[in-house]
Amino acid sequence: MNYDQWKLASPSGPELVSPCCGSDYTDTFDEDRFEIYTCDYCKEEFDEPIVDYEYRARIEDDRADERMDDERLGL
Ligand SMILES: [Zn+2]
Repeated sequence: MNYDQWKLASPSGPELVSPCCGSDYTDTFDEDRFEIYTCDYCKEEFDEPIVDYEYRARIEDDRADERMDDERLGL
């Protein structure tokens, strides 16, 4: 079973989102049949969508990093 089949077979599975905003995205093919993803929210292009829980984990990591930075700076 390839990935597309898996995705179609699991409508309630992980949602793929844009890595920048965790938003819906549009995928298009340019003239070389190269796939381009565009974030629906900020219109940025990106190479690969990520699953929504990965996006959330990434945000949590960023927040944790910010907290550590603040502590290091004594804020
Ligand atoms: Zn975006």
